[in-house]
This record gives sequence, structure tokens and C-alpha cells, in this order.
Amino acid sequence: MGAAADKLLGLSRDALERHFVAMGEKPFRARQLMKWVYGHAVLQPEAMTDLSVALRERLAGSASFDLPTVRSRQEAVDGVVKWLLDAGRGQAIETVFIPEGTRGTLCVSSQVGCAMDCSFCATGAQGFNRNLDAAEIIGQVMLARQELVCERESPITNVVFMGMGEPLANFRPLVEAVSVLTDNLGFNLSRRRVTVSTSGLVPQIRRLADEARVALAVSLHAPDDRLRDELVPINRRHPIDELLPACWDYVAKTNTRDITFEYVMLDGVNDDLSHARQLASRLKRRPAKVNLIPFNPFPGTQYRRSSPAVVDEFRQVLLDAGVFTVTRKTRGDDIAAACGQLAGQVHNRVRSPLSLKVQETRP
Ligand code: SAH
Ligand code: SF4
Repeated sequence: MGAAADKLLGLSRDALERHFVAMGEKPFRARQLMKWVYGHAVLQPEAMTDLSVALRERLAGSASFDLPTVRSRQEAVDGVVKWLLDAGRGQAIETVFIPEGTRGTLCVSSQVGCAMDCSFCATGAQGFNRNLDAAEIIGQVMLARQELVCERESPITNVVFMGMGEPLANFRPLVEAVSVLTDNLGFNLSRRRVTVSTSGLVPQIRRLADEARVALAVSLHAPDDRLRDELVPINRRHPIDELLPACWDYVAKTNTRDITFEYVMLDGVNDDLSHARQLASRLKRRPAKVNLIPFNPFPGTQYRRSSPAVVDEFRQVLLDAGVFTVTRKTRGDDIAAACGQLAGQVHNRVRSPLSLKVQETRP
């Protein structure tokens, strides 16, 4: 199959229907194809026996259903599985499966690297190379399901966009992929079981409310702009007073229950009780819950993890204010599969153009 093959994996049902119509076929071919691909994991057009022989041959010659190539697979002591997947040109991305009782969460990557340059994140430290397309995003889910299905029944119950990359900076492919995840002929996941995590791209949060009403997690990490500017540089472009209203509007518009605010606990940086009180006053009586994330160190980082006692006190302040707060369990850290440890293999093409640009907007 040449490089110009039509990538049909990851196309939404609408896009697939348009594709078949453009081929001179009936739109219902899209439904047939999705049943084969996602329902039966059949990726060879030759085997799709309810398509006409002529169409099977055309697809075999024109379409690609390639899954990413596994470079390595590691399994942590707690059952977490991490795949390093080839992303071409010597680069790699990571996908992580986190089993928890009957629930199985797949954490997928949306970009090769990330341009957001958050100061505490291994992916950010690597820089950005390129966006993944919808086929590469859905390819991660197909591949993980294929690898896990022999081991457990219906292994993937939840998908979170918390791997490498800023999903809202790769908007169209994200929306296409979400559409396949939630389509009953795709992975048939309810919208509540698909979570997009963002560092706070406000215009895209607003667009997401129109295009994919999934669960939203926002990486807040600081209760005030001075500190957030430092930790999450996109804050210089979209400060907290712009971000939070977009979050409340998202809840109102999408009928989701609440927004999850992620807050990585960095020793002596953002873990003071005064930070907790400030955070509580911003979030109380709002549709918000907080996920405190123990910092996961990576080579070369300047930060340290807050002590468990400090995390508990911080959490108590939020709980006392009526803000539902949990401390996230660190999973898979023995294979560097925990939040913020995903580094894949990225050739940085842009030394954080974003943080340079946004710096201009605030002295
Ligand atoms: N780019 C998106 C999603 C991927 S990161 C985002 O930032 O939201 C998933 C979560 O892991 C985010 O909340 C991120 O801030 C957090 N994270 C990044 N580096 C981390 C680290 N070293 N330790 C713990 N959490 C980290
Ligand atoms: Fe990118 Fe998220 Fe890491 Fe920030 S925390 S650099 S947005 S992946």
C-alpha cells in the first residue's frame, strides 16, 4: 500500500459515508465497514464478505487500515501496560492501559510531543514534533484492544486523552476520534467514559462544547495567575479568569456533571495551605471536582513530590469548603507510565514557540 492510501481508520461515520459517496458507492457501506473494523476487528477488505467483490478489491487497492507498530511493550507490577509505538521518522509515542477492577482505562496520545512547555512535564520537556491524525489516535485503541482482548473480556471501558500531547491543539482529529469512540458502531463508549484533558485552550474548550460533549478535565495546577503563568505557560494567553468561565459554560452547554481540575502537587511550589484555600474559594459551589496528582519525577526535573501528609491537609481544606477532591493513585511508575512521565521519542521541531509568543502578551 503506497503512502497515498486512504486512511479509513478513525474516520467518523459521516466522514466515512462521504468517502463512499465520493467513490460512487452507497452511504450505508460506511456502516458495513464500521461493523467489520470495530465490531469484528477485521482489517482486511478481502474478508468483508457483505461488500461486493468489486468493492472489496477497490478497497484492498486504495484503503489503509494500518495499526501502529509496537516497538516495545512493558507491564508494571500493578498491571499497567505501556506500549511504545512507532510514529515514523525515528519517533515514538506512548499508550498506557490502566486496569482497575472491572474498569479498564486507556490513556492515549494525541501528538508527538507537546508544544505547551509545562515546566513539570516530561512530554513538554521534549518539545513538539507533529499532530497525530485520527487513524493514529484510533489505531492506539484498536491495537490495545487487540493485545488485551486475549487476556481479559472487553478490556477498555474508558478512554482518556492524557497521554502525550495537548489534545485541543489537534482539534479536528480529536473530534473525529471521539466520534468513533462514542459511535455505537465504533467503540460504543458513553460520552462520560471519554475524557479530554487540556492545559486550558479556552477557544477550543468552547468549540468542544459544540462538537463533542465528552467529559472534560482541566490541568489547573495553580490557583493564581502568577504561579500558573510559570507552571502552565498557556495561562499567559488564557488566564484563570478566562478559563474558569469557559469551564462553567462547558458544563451548562453539554449537560456534563462537572469539570475535573487536575492539580499536580509540587513540593514547596503550589502545595501551601494558602493555595488550597484560594483554590477552594475559586471552585466552591461550582460544578467542579479536584484530582490531586502526586508529582511523578523524570530525569532532569527541578521539582519534588509533596509529602503525603501535605497532600492530605491540602485535600482536607478543599473538602471542608465542599469541593469534592480525590488524590490520584500513582500507577505504573516503575515503567515510567505515570502521568507526565511519557516521553516517547520526539525530535523537537519547535522550541516552544508558544511560550515565546505568549510571553509577549504579558510582561
Ligand atoms: N496535555 C494535556 C493532557 C496530557 S497530561 C494536559 O496537560 O492536560 C495529563 C495530566 O498529567 C495533566 O494534568 C498534566 O498536567 C499531568 N502531568 C504532567 N506532568 C506530570 C508529572 N510529571 N507528574 C504528574 N502529573 C503530571
Ligand atoms: Fe503538554 Fe499536558 Fe505536558 Fe503541558 S502537561 S506539556 S499540555 S502534555
